[in-house]
Amino acid sequence: MLVPSPRPSPVTPTLDLDARGVQHGHLRLPHSRDDSAWGSVMIPICVIANGDGPTALLTGGNHGDEYEGPAALFELARTLAPEAVSGRVIIIPALNYPAFRAGTRTSPIDRGNLNRSFPGRPDGTVTEKIADYVTRHLVPLADVVLDFHSGGKTLDFLPYAAAHELPDKDQEARCFAAVAAFSAPYSMKMLEIDAVGMLDTTVEELGKVFITTELGGAGTASAHSIGIARRGATNVLKHAGILKCEPERQATRWLDMPSSDCFAFAQDDGLIAFQIDLGQPVRAGDVIARVYPIGRTGGAPAEYRAALDGMLAARHVPGLIKAGDCLAVLAVVKERL
Ligand code: ZN
Repeated sequence: MLVPSPRPSPVTPTLDLDARGVQHGHLRLPHSRDDSAWGSVMIPICVIANGDGPTALLTGGNHGDEYEGPAALFELARTLAPEAVSGRVIIIPALNYPAFRAGTRTSPIDRGNLNRSFPGRPDGTVTEKIADYVTRHLVPLADVVLDFHSGGKTLDFLPYAAAHELPDKDQEARCFAAVAAFSAPYSMKMLEIDAVGMLDTTVEELGKVFITTELGGAGTASAHSIGIARRGATNVLKHAGILKCEPERQATRWLDMPSSDCFAFAQDDGLIAFQIDLGQPVRAGDVIARVYPIGRTGGAPAEYRAALDGMLAARHVPGLIKAGDCLAVLAVVKERL
């Protein structure tokens, strides 16, 4: 039986992914629209290659309102000297570029959530075409993938690097060794609410080393969180052997998300009054937050209690919440991984 060959990607890189030296260019994705009949989305990309060695793919802006990754990666692309590199570093600071330009989680073109669109489609939406290009043309080049996230406009996180529990325990150990090398203040064994469609899953299923982060949020980035991202990116390159020196290790606290009991979701709209802040401990049964009805005075707040002993690892922002929103995430502190 004839198997149709996969449709080629419409994305064209304006640089040579296999050339040595420093190149700054774009992934050009045709996008015909009212203000540009034969226009394109131009996603900035940098390739720095020298000698022999592994390839790292570093991505930020997978969600457009998360800023530690873009801040660290625009700077790294500008400053990383090719003489220091053994192998190749592919840097895309703002992967969902239309979303990044709009300052929104999803793309203003198609409302696509890039990290729910993998492995993507070459004949799909703009967001699906970006995912497809990454899946079929960039991930296969990479030995290690670091994809930066933070909370965006509606969540705020303790600063952590993370990997997932994987069926291949050797691969899982390699991922957590890279998380340890990243040296964020916290290191998480992360449980996803829904892992379908994520870049994480696509890379992990190919047996590669994958590291993600949650480094803050609230729709901005601080000097502290950008510093963590910059040190983490170079530490991962050092750990991979692409930069020939030891990672600059800092103390980290290991956290685990053992079950879906870690997540608390709002059941009604209202005004949040958190009773604890990020990084503070809770015991099972403690009140994490009260959510006040805001239509009139006199109403009792709904109380949201911790389902397990742990620490507040993420919280909703800003101050009002809607039914179904993620209110809080708890993590369990571990002595070690
Ligand atoms: Zn994200």
